[in-house]
Amino acid sequence: LKVLLTGGSGFVATHVLQKLLEHGHKVVTTVRSDEKGRYLLDLFKGNPVTYTVVQDIAAEGAFDEAVKSDPPFDAVIHTASPFHYNVQDNKRDMIDPAVNGTTGILKAIVKFAPSVRHVVITSSFAAISNPKAPPKVYSEEIWNDMTMEEALTTKNPQAAYRASKTFAEQAAWEFVKIQKPHFGLTVLNPPMIYGPVIHEVASLDALNTSSIRILDLLLGKPRDGPVGSPIYVDVRDLALAHVLSIEKPEVSGQRIFMAAGMGSEKEMGDIIKRSFPELAKNVRDDLVADMPPYGIDNSKAKKILGITYRSLEETVVDTVKSLQALGA
Ligand code: NDP
Repeated sequence: LKVLLTGGSGFVATHVLQKLLEHGHKVVTTVRSDEKGRYLLDLFKGNPVTYTVVQDIAAEGAFDEAVKSDPPFDAVIHTASPFHYNVQDNKRDMIDPAVNGTTGILKAIVKFAPSVRHVVITSSFAAISNPKAPPKVYSEEIWNDMTMEEALTTKNPQAAYRASKTFAEQAAWEFVKIQKPHFGLTVLNPPMIYGPVIHEVASLDALNTSSIRILDLLLGKPRDGPVGSPIYVDVRDLALAHVLSIEKPEVSGQRIFMAAGMGSEKEMGDIIKRSFPELAKNVRDDLVADMPPYGIDNSKAKKILGITYRSLEETVVDTVKSLQALGA
């Protein structure tokens, strides 16, 4: 298939790109600069991949040119969305790029890419997680019930991020319901994503948000906020799910919670201690072992995508190895 992948320079998207190429697909990916595009061409040299620059996904019509291609695209995978906690203005920095990016690409496909059969959007557990009233078991049935007013006014950057993913996903389903477009939509909802870092990272300070969690554990850096979600997935399993979602038309219309399992901060620290004795002295003694009072139901992805998940051990070990290769 010929596939448009947005945000190709990101942690998740670079793995999706790799998996698409392994599966024999041809890829055009959007990036914010030529420099980021050239890094990917170099990383995947000899493969059918090109890039196109889309500087700001929040801008009106941002994807109008990117969705046009000859031969035309069969599928689109939209991963680009801000994931950081450096938020000054919730609307400008988080909600607009997430929501406008999502509706923008859907509108552009409707207008300019009639050959697209399938669209996959990377949403998040953030759009499921409902911290005010957590259910006994999290599954695809659950939605974050934050209101737009709360989203615009919260001073908590994590909450602003969760809101951006919630409203973006809601906008996507709403778009499909109202427009009845010519393509099918699948939405993937991953929790915290770890695993090998293969995207361009200028320095460890510029690492993507979820990988920083493991970096902090291996450096012994004290946490500056509440303990994060213990639900995880390996980036390689999530990348495969993106590719399977465009290959299996039967997953059209589905929201899929891509959770491998749960592991406490303490469990991740223990894995680091066991597998990397040289790092054991860094691992803090005050890591939280308690688990939240809810469980997860991850059966849908296994059933409809046939995914088998990597263990927490494999995920953490391979993340640490790749962070060490980056100089940690
Ligand atoms: P990254 O920060 O590595 O990737 C985000 C990508 O989006 C980057 O390519 C970034 O470009 C691009 N992007 C962000 N804002 C804009 C914008 N305004 N205009 C153009 N491009 C933009 O994070 P991840 O790879 O982790 O995230 C990928 C997706 O996965 C996101 O949708 C995120 O919400 C979702 N996700 C991630 C989780 C995780 O634990 N990592 C958990 C659940 C969901 P640039 O780098 O050039 O700024």
